[in-house]
Amino acid sequence: MEKFTEDKTGSFYSYLSEGCRLCQEGAKMVLFVTGLCPKNCFYCPLSDKRRGKDLVFANERLISSDEDLLKEAELMDALGTGITGGEPLLKLERVLHYIRMLKASFGIEHHIHLYTSLAPGRQVLEKLADAGLDEIRFHPPQECWNDLKNSQYANSLQNAKELGIEAGIEIPALEDAEKVSAFAEEMGVFLNLNELEFSDNNSEALLKNGFCFNPTHPVRLPDPVNLPGLPLRNVKRPIFVPQYIRMQSSSAKDFSESQRILQESLTKSLKTVHWYTE
Ligand code: SF4
Repeated sequence: MEKFTEDKTGSFYSYLSEGCRLCQEGAKMVLFVTGLCPKNCFYCPLSDKRRGKDLVFANERLISSDEDLLKEAELMDALGTGITGGEPLLKLERVLHYIRMLKASFGIEHHIHLYTSLAPGRQVLEKLADAGLDEIRFHPPQECWNDLKNSQYANSLQNAKELGIEAGIEIPALEDAEKVSAFAEEMGVFLNLNELEFSDNNSEALLKNGFCFNPTHPVRLPDPVNLPGLPLRNVKRPIFVPQYIRMQSSSAKDFSESQRILQESLTKSLKTVHWYTE
């Protein structure tokens, strides 16, 4: 079985991409390039402040000029940037501009990774590679997970690799994640599995889908009065409840049965899993 390392946050991994390594150090600026997105994932945690709004944030700072953005990166001594949204590739020219600007201002060693739920073609990936993108993480929708091999995501991953961009998949730990892990292994790319987080906007959908809140996790539980008809006592526990599969900081012998089953099913076929909880 692949050897996993656990960090102090409860994440465990057998491989860390450079983007993940820098994030773990807190050295990456989070650049939110737009709140627009064509997808409608039930677990989407975007707040009303951002969802559907074409705004730019660097960490928590609303950005209205390039100077604002550079100032935020300087303030935190950022060693890199993670570009997220919404769907960043809806604003491709904006993304290319920011990548070029950050590389020109902080050097090519300023590491930049990008998240996308789309499966861009070769031309778009070439533009991103030319601008200096170091790493890309694809987030295919759950309905594609059964047949990723025959989807456009397989081509995008292959093209990204050929263009010298480190490529991986980043998805929430939902049912069928093990199929994505087998696909990632076949493609020779890394896989990040996220623990879902409850937010004001997704709590009702998460509860309806059978997820429940982990009281030991330091996130705020939405007020039950805002969830008519969904009292917490009626919430069932599904096969995959990421909060309960989270690796605890105590020793391995304390793992719950569900933690053990998930880890075994993933590690059977997967060599490069990075599970994180923050
Ligand atoms: S792709 Fe991301 S931003 Fe878009 S709906 Fe899904 S979780 Fe939200």
